[in-house]
Amino acid sequence: MVSLSEFHQVQKHLKQQNRKQGKHDFAFNGLIRCGHCGGAVCGEKKTVKLSDGRTNVHFYYSCANSKKTCVRKVVNEATIERQISQVLETLAVPVEFIAFAKQVIAHWKDEEMQNREAVKQKQAEAIQGLERKRDKLLEMKLNDLLSDAEYREEKEKVQAEIVVMRMSQQQSHEDTDALWESIENAAVLLHYGQAFFEGGNAAMQHLIAKTLGATFVLTDRSLAIELSPVFGRIAQLKSELGADMQKSIGAEPVPERENEAENSFQSQQNAPLDGERLVWWNILDTTRTALRSSRLAIPNFMPNNAS
Ligand SMILES: [Zn+2]
Repeated sequence: MVSLSEFHQVQKHLKQQNRKQGKHDFAFNGLIRCGHCGGAVCGEKKTVKLSDGRTNVHFYYSCANSKKTCVRKVVNEATIERQISQVLETLAVPVEFIAFAKQVIAHWKDEEMQNREAVKQKQAEAIQGLERKRDKLLEMKLNDLLSDAEYREEKEKVQAEIVVMRMSQQQSHEDTDALWESIENAAVLLHYGQAFFEGGNAAMQHLIAKTLGATFVLTDRSLAIELSPVFGRIAQLKSELGADMQKSIGAEPVPERENEAENSFQSQQNAPLDGERLVWWNILDTTRTALRSSRLAIPNFMPNNAS
């Protein structure tokens, strides 16, 4: 297990190594479009010689101007970083949110398992019905009610239906398993996102920005970020309901009482959720709905095998 501080040390080391080798990876290449021409916005390095002989290196982004129609206005890399970091700050949730998310997801999984059993039962019955139909076809053929060709054609149709039914059963399981993972990964990103982004290397920054944003458009010197449907809904929800929540961010985590761990979400549900938990619940429920309809997968941002 890698702690957050170890993670930051590794990232810092990688950055220093890159700097020594004179390398600089542009985190936002491939993400930003130009607001004037729609072309790609790319990172560039500029070395400026100072009057005292020292050199200053600047990293900035501008339109690649592939259509030769753009006036090249540049924006500093640091400005883009700051802007994305601010978005992550508005999305931030307290660390306890992650444990709460795990409880809720476990509860949803239970519910889904019960549904799954019912669906499985129905599908098994449907498959049995199709198998009976197939047997019946054979009987008809043997009684000369169907020609060989007719029999083969009908049998193939039934077989195909059976295969489709088995596949759809498998597929829906895989889809929901991926959904639970994505919700948990989203919870981690909401809390740790800003720390991971600020301490992360270019690849990490790219991945976070890509996960957050549907579009990044640079017009002159200002970047417009449109969040992806999932995070857009969360941001909206947080601005509507988040007053309680904002207070507790940055506050020390409340130590869990011993019996609290045993308090499954199920029993919490019998008691009404308090203000903050209700907001959390809404965020998770929104995340579930948005992820389900967008079919977007949120990657796991936890460093290595940390959990
Ligand atoms: Zn352009």
